[in-house]
Amino acid sequence: MQEDFDIHRDASRSDNDTDFERALRPRRFDDFSGQDKVVDNLRVFVQAARMRGEALDHLLLYGPPGLGKTTLSAIIANELGVGFKVTSGPVLDKPGDLAGILTSLEENDVLFIDEIHRLSPVVEEYLYSAMEDYRIDIMIDKGPGARSVQLTLSPFTLIGATTRSGLLTSPLRARFGIPCHLEYYDHEILERIILRSARLLGVPCSAEAAHEVALRSRGTPRIANRLLRRVRDFAMVKGSGHIDPEIARYALEALNIDRYGLDEIDNKILRTIITKFRGGPVGLSTIATALGEDPGTVEEVYEPFLIKEGFIKRTPRGREVTDLAWNHLGIDRLGFDPGLFG
Ligand code: ADP
Repeated sequence: MQEDFDIHRDASRSDNDTDFERALRPRRFDDFSGQDKVVDNLRVFVQAARMRGEALDHLLLYGPPGLGKTTLSAIIANELGVGFKVTSGPVLDKPGDLAGILTSLEENDVLFIDEIHRLSPVVEEYLYSAMEDYRIDIMIDKGPGARSVQLTLSPFTLIGATTRSGLLTSPLRARFGIPCHLEYYDHEILERIILRSARLLGVPCSAEAAHEVALRSRGTPRIANRLLRRVRDFAMVKGSGHIDPEIARYALEALNIDRYGLDEIDNKILRTIITKFRGGPVGLSTIATALGEDPGTVEEVYEPFLIKEGFIKRTPRGREVTDLAWNHLGIDRLGFDPGLFG
């Protein structure tokens, strides 16, 4: 299989991170833990496409960052035994950029477009005929001699990934035959992922230590792997090289990792609802305005984890924090005085 990560995309991740993620990335369905429902269905669709010798239907993967959308896409291409090309919405500036990639695809290859909600409208429209009929129009020559010719593409599978499925236009959404939603991972599955990564990194790690790291990984394999890397540093320098529960706890404490795995924005959301709205209920757009965030991002990227872990509940009158949130922030609910928080 040809794996083409060259057209790379996420400028916020350092090369070091990217190399590290690549090394730990599962290559087959059997190595991919969790997301059982999605994976079971994908196994069937992949096998059926192979049996027919056809391209797999276009697939949309949506869910928060770091849950395995890129990984799963590469696995699909691998299991199909076809080539894999990667690009992303913001990189595809004009239709010509997309045409270049589409014409380089071989029969039944997988094209992965990350952040597909960020495609420009012209590029998106250009993609429609490619997805539907494997055809594109390209312009030849410039000026008075310019003309458009139609090119037939090899059949291919488009896998679109997004953290913000609410921003997809309905014509684009309608062109994906298989929509798959990825969920946050449970602690037991993260523990399994951490133990596998530790094995690949060649660092001994006990199940109990992996559990400690899993608890603080915000339900996200990417975070779990990053924490493991940091904990490994502590184990080498401050311990015996082995990751045991003591060194794991010591490292996580030293790194100031929230004991429920909440990040800065999660905590800011909880604190805002408590200090500005006495714990709610309060409407989503009011929360977003108070945070200076976009309501869609709060709803699709942050809130699902806070709801899953029981920090926030949805009520008919808006969002409300639970006792767990008050306790976590160390604010006494009964004696709460909003004046203290300005
Ligand atoms: P996304 O594309 O959703 O942002 P990635 O596919 O890049 O997420 O996953 C981030 C990292 O987490 C990868 O390097 C991979 O090693 C790891 N990972 C994600 N999902 C799993 C899984 N189910 N099992 C094992 N590792 C995983």
